[in-house]
Amino acid sequence: MKLNFCSLSSGSSGNCYYLGNEFHGILIDAGIPATSIRKFLKNMDISMQTIMGVLITHNHIDHIRGLEVLTRKNSLPAFSTYKIWKSILAPHKKISRDCIHEIPLQQKFHLAGFDIEAFPVCHDAPETIGFHICAGDKKITIATDLGHISQTAAPYIKAANLLVIESNYDEQMLVNGKYPHFLKARIQSDHGHLGNHQTSAFLADIISDNLSNICLAHLSKNNNTPEIVLQTLQQTFSERGIILNEQQRISILKRNMPTEMIRLME
Ligand SMILES: [Zn+2]
Ligand SMILES: [Zn+2]
Repeated sequence: MKLNFCSLSSGSSGNCYYLGNEFHGILIDAGIPATSIRKFLKNMDISMQTIMGVLITHNHIDHIRGLEVLTRKNSLPAFSTYKIWKSILAPHKKISRDCIHEIPLQQKFHLAGFDIEAFPVCHDAPETIGFHICAGDKKITIATDLGHISQTAAPYIKAANLLVIESNYDEQMLVNGKYPHFLKARIQSDHGHLGNHQTSAFLADIISDNLSNICLAHLSKNNNTPEIVLQTLQQTFSERGIILNEQQRISILKRNMPTEMIRLME
């Protein structure tokens, strides 16, 4: 069986990720316009007909921008918790109710040949979740918006072969930047986003040979650059004496365009 992962877009302007095999695929979040999602998939020879559903992490617009059109025009089933749907459906009345599916927290459900489990993360939305997805013997974890890594979330993150984790801001750039004080405080809080040093230190703690792909995600437009993200991670690993093996890859996910397809199984 093949298993492919790709980020279509990652960052505060929009998040959307694809995971699929040769038969089916799923999306995680739909934070860019549906037209862009369809276009990006088509460019990769992936038909929208093969997409069996979209998993939604929380109600922020950079995660649901394309959801209304995907449910109305493509009748795409969408999966999230009761609390998250409540926070999305009240202000977004045009999302097709027929497509909405409620999922429990920390209980496996099955979609498109994948076993999927949602786990709670700390973020400033009514509820925010990450996803742990099993396909054959491969495990994928996606945790893009979280202020800190809780004891509940950590095991799902540690178990991943492919991990998508945010590295949102460079701590120095945020402190010295133009954002008002309240916004800086929100971003840095336990319910905001993970900074480069936080993410790097956590990765240095958990890295093992099982973690083959680290995808650093949700970079801030104003308080980060891909170069600084990579530099911070490499510096942290080198200080801790961590040397990656030949199979391990680090990807910095792009903000407004797809990142190269990662082939987890050929
Ligand atoms: Zn976000
Ligand atoms: Zn968010």
